[in-house]
Amino acid sequence: MVHLSLARYASIGFLGLGNMGKHMATNLIAANHQVTIFDVNSQALDHFKDQKQAKTVTVPQNAVKDSEFVVLMLPNGKIVRDVCQSNVFPTAKKGTCIIDCSTIDVRTSKEMAEMARTKNLRYIDAPVSGGVTGAQKGTLTFMVGGQPDDFKSAEPILSKMGKNIVHAGPSGSGLAAKICNNLLLAISMIGTSEAMNLGLKLGLDKEVLAKLINSSTGQCWSSQSYNPCPGIVANVPSSNNYNGGFACEMMTKDLLLALDAAKEAKASTPLTEKATELYREICSNGLNKRDFSVIFKYLNEQ
Ligand code: NAD
Repeated sequence: MVHLSLARYASIGFLGLGNMGKHMATNLIAANHQVTIFDVNSQALDHFKDQKQAKTVTVPQNAVKDSEFVVLMLPNGKIVRDVCQSNVFPTAKKGTCIIDCSTIDVRTSKEMAEMARTKNLRYIDAPVSGGVTGAQKGTLTFMVGGQPDDFKSAEPILSKMGKNIVHAGPSGSGLAAKICNNLLLAISMIGTSEAMNLGLKLGLDKEVLAKLINSSTGQCWSSQSYNPCPGIVANVPSSNNYNGGFACEMMTKDLLLALDAAKEAKASTPLTEKATELYREICSNGLNKRDFSVIFKYLNEQ
């Protein structure tokens, strides 16, 4: 069992240093943890060139074998399963806590948690909200599923990467909450894009419209902090030709996770179905790697 005092300067293996993971790992390094990083794409490690405390390795097992915590920030459930079964479970020392921050399906996550338990490892699902900006600023929200003791020992690590750390319930609960949040995010982004696009076509000034929405009942995270219309919010993907951020293919994946979960729970989700259709269409039009706010540009050019 890792105690809170030890967790303060823990040894941490970090696998997956993409748009989110690179900033999260940077924050752990800045908090003086001993972080060993690995990514299958060696270019992802470029971000750490000037960070002398970052230890990079060329095989994932070397990031796992001596670590008290292993953080995963990977694209999807299939990759999480492969990495757990091939790289993490056979290598991790007894008692290691695996913190999976990836957004994946609840079923795979519960299976991985159970497999970890049989190998005397600990496992929590800890997906995040807050986007690349939240990852960069260390202000992410963590939605955590797992045993209360495992949550407590991981909390000091998570608090270096986020500001709201919430234990949502047993294994899989963090992901259940995350999936609900992201279906709402997709729908609110589409709504914001439709409103901004219509407003522009009606001759409104984009800044005036954004300001009015943000002080009216239509205000939401997509309109306020991540406006999809270029030039309204600085340093978000819409002001950088929709590069970086949260890729449309990732949002499509999350919407499919939501539809799958809704089917299993027999919950009605008509707007999620429509949002999935739209994001699939955007992906098949070559915009799959662009940030999901590119829906504004897509609608604008219809
Ligand atoms: P990304 O594609 O930018 O990064 C994923 C990284 O994982 C890549 O660098 C990739 O090379 C690496 N990777 C793939 N297979 C690997 C393996 N076998 N071993 C080690 N590394 C491997 O994705 P991202 O935007 O950083 O998102 C990561 C996860 O976080 C996803 O599950 C996503 O749904 C979730 N998420 C993303 C955001 C966002 O705004 N980008 C927000 C919340 C949650």
